[in-house]
Formats: sequence, structure tokens, C-alpha cells
Amino acid sequence: MFSFTSIAAYQEQLGSGATTCTIAVSHYLECIQANKYLNAFVEVYADEALALAAKLDAQRTAGSAPKLLHGVVIAIKDVICYEGHAVTAASTMLKGYHSPYTATALQFLIDEEAIIIGNCNCDEFAMGSSNEHSVYGPVHNAYDTSKVPGGSSGGSAVAVQAGLCMAALGSDTGGSVRQPADFCGIIGFKPGYGTISRYGLIAFASSFDQIGIFGKNIADLHLILKLMSRNDPNDSTMNAVAISTASVDANEKKFRIAYFSSAMNHPSLDEEIALQQKQYLLQLREEGHIVDAVVFDMIDYIVPAYYVLTTAEASSNLSRYDGIRYGHRSAATTADLTGFYTQNRTEGFGKEVKRRIMLGTFVLSSGYYDAYFSKAQQVRGKLVDAISSIFKTYDAIALPTSPVTAFPIGEKNQDPMAMYLADIYTVLANLTGIPAISLPLFRHSNGMPFGLQLLAARKDEVTLLQLSQQLMQRK
Ligand code: GLN
Repeated sequence: MFSFTSIAAYQEQLGSGATTCTIAVSHYLECIQANKYLNAFVEVYADEALALAAKLDAQRTAGSAPKLLHGVVIAIKDVICYEGHAVTAASTMLKGYHSPYTATALQFLIDEEAIIIGNCNCDEFAMGSSNEHSVYGPVHNAYDTSKVPGGSSGGSAVAVQAGLCMAALGSDTGGSVRQPADFCGIIGFKPGYGTISRYGLIAFASSFDQIGIFGKNIADLHLILKLMSRNDPNDSTMNAVAISTASVDANEKKFRIAYFSSAMNHPSLDEEIALQQKQYLLQLREEGHIVDAVVFDMIDYIVPAYYVLTTAEASSNLSRYDGIRYGHRSAATTADLTGFYTQNRTEGFGKEVKRRIMLGTFVLSSGYYDAYFSKAQQVRGKLVDAISSIFKTYDAIALPTSPVTAFPIGEKNQDPMAMYLADIYTVLANLTGIPAISLPLFRHSNGMPFGLQLLAARKDEVTLLQLSQQLMQRK
């Protein structure tokens, strides 16, 4: 019986002959089959994965040196391009589309002999917080199948949560890796903006989007991050970060951690989440870390700024899907070209994507540009200043990841405002371009897990991982 704890332990087992890549892949294929009802995968690359596993096993036994992700079984979100494979962003708009090239970040993993087992369900074009806006239907949280897994990378989160792969890739524009990690009781990491190439990631809001990683331990995330953060000339927004190859173990180190009273006492925050996290922070202080409340009076501006700016960028990015250049082409007869575009887009996009395109078009329109778009840009600038000044004194900021634990499927679906407001704690990191992580440290009396979110300064992924490692080991 195959069981996975970490990439290092797995590779040791491969080296000693205690297991093989074929055993690992067969195990995951069985688990995916047995957990089909979770609806985590869009497509499973069973034959390919088995063929590659057999090849890697043969190479290893013939004596060739294994590469860094030799045989590591990884799932990807259905917004990451993989040559020759379908990528649809969970949308009718891209049904039947096969990518002609591979996203650079994914290629870096494949080059190190990772095995890609399939692509995962998500909210359409990564817009959502519950994985209910998908043409493939909702994903179910494996802890309680009546609940959402979070979104938009819900399928990738559940793939790791339910043990259907070793690690998974998602994308995080406003929390889509951290929030599902919180809801599913696993680790979700979003690098700082520019740390990982976006080439081959289907764009939602280009100045916010980053590929993120789901995993079960920090060492695995660290290894995958190191490999994926290599420079890519195809992404001119890359901001090369040297991710240290040294271990992120820093057990003796004492950190300076800030938290915001305005966040910890926010009326939208579940009381029990607030209480458990406040107690946790007090314990950290007792253990010798510096833990201070700092003033942050912009908490109620971050969700509005995020939804103005990301919808504006989305309305521009998604204009390419017109049924001529890209995307679904209607079979209906239309009177003229405009009618043809309208028909293609009406049929191709789901309700939430249409809502965002309309909102984004509105905030960019000439009468409202200054009132909404420019103002939101100013808020973004002020947030960057406020956050940078905090990091002059502190190594990390602690926040809840989500104000609530995983909610029932259908509960917030008809109320987009409630869904948007629940992004209150995650969008800050994307607005300011800093790295952030959700650590599965807590369990609610309602039985569901929840996480602590940590944010670090731009380009300081390593400090974030060191602190995370310490807290995960302390657990
Ligand atoms: N929930 C957020 C939204 O719907 C975040 C999405 C994301 O990070 N892709 O915009």
C-alpha cells in the first residue's frame, strides 16, 4: 500500500527500491477513480502518467541519476497551459481548446521529471471563491461533501486534501490558492508578484495573477517554488527572486509578527476563528516572538479596490474571446458581426464571468473612470506604502485566511456581494504584490479546518517559509 508523506521521503523509498513511480501513479489513479464524486479533476492523464512512470523507473534502475522532482505526481488547475492537452478555464468558451505550448512554470517541473496526472476543476476563468461557477459543476470538500472546497482553485485543493496527488498547482489573483487551502485543511502558497512566470497561465487580472502551490508540508512547497521561480524571458513582469536552496528550517529563530486589530475584530469574522487565532498569537508571544498589534485603517477599502481593478483588467483580458480570434463560436445565425460576437459571448461565458466583464467595462467607461478605476488605483498605491512601512519593522503579518469556514454548497451562490466580501483577508497580498501562505493550524467546533494566513515583504518568500516551517513543526 503506497502512502505519501513528503517528496524527500518518497524519493528515498524510490532510491531504496521500497516503491516505484509506477506504484505511486497506480495508487493515485485508483484514488482518483474512487473519489470521482468529489469532481476535483476535469481530465486525468492516466495512460501518459503510467507511461512516464514506467520510463522513469527503467531509467532509475539502469543507474541514471534522478532529477529533483523524479516521479513526483502533480495535478494542475484548468487554467495552466500544457502542450497538447485541453485547457478550458472551466468555461464553455474554451471547450475543445488544446494548448499549443506549455506554461513555463509547468515546464520547469516537467524538466525535473515530475509526472502530471491531470488537470483540476476550478471556477470559470478563476473567478469565484467556492468552485460553484464551473461548467463542470461544483467540487465537493472531502471533509464534508455538502460543503464547498473554496475557490477558485477548488479542484486542485481537493486533489491534495483527498490524497489524489502529491502537490498541485493553482492560481491566486485574490486568494484562490490560500482560501481553498484554508477550507480544505492543507497548505496554500501564493508567491510575490513576479516570482513565478505567468507565461501560459490563462489571464484573469494580469497585475494580480500568480501561479500558487498546494501541498502538505513546507519542504515540498519550498522545493517546487525553487524550481518554478527560475527566470523566464517570456514574462517581462518577472521580478527574479533568489529562493535560497538552503533548508527553511529555522527552529530557533524568533520572528517579529504584526497583526491588525481592525482585522482580528472585524464584524465579518467568525468569533471562534477570531478567538482561536488571538490565543495562538499570544502563545507565540509567550514563546519569545515579537507579536504586536499595528494600526491598519484601510481594511474596508481593500475588497472594493480589488473588485474594481480586477474586473477592469478582466474586461480587457477576456475581450479576446470573441469566437473569431479565440473561443466558442455559435452555430446560430446572426444578422451582423456585432450580433455574432454577442451570440458567441452570450453562449460561451457563464453568469459570474459576464457580471465581472460588465462591472469592469463600467468602471473603465469614460464617465466613471476617475470615480472608480483611478480611485481604486490610488487605494492600491496607499496600501503598498502602508504595507511596506510595516515590513520595515516586522518580518510577517498574521491575518485570518477567511472570515468563515467552508460553507454549504449553494449558500452564497445567489449573493455575489456576500461571496466577494468573504475575500477580505486574502486580496491584500495581491493588491500589494507580496507573498502569502495559509497554514492549516486550526479546527473549528463545527468540525471544519481553518488556516492562519501569513504575509511577508516583497521578495521575502524565504522568511515566510521559515516562519511557516516553524509553525507547522510546532503544531
Ligand atoms: N475569490 C476571488 C475572486 O473571485 C479570487 C479569485 C482568484 O484568486 N482567482 O476574484
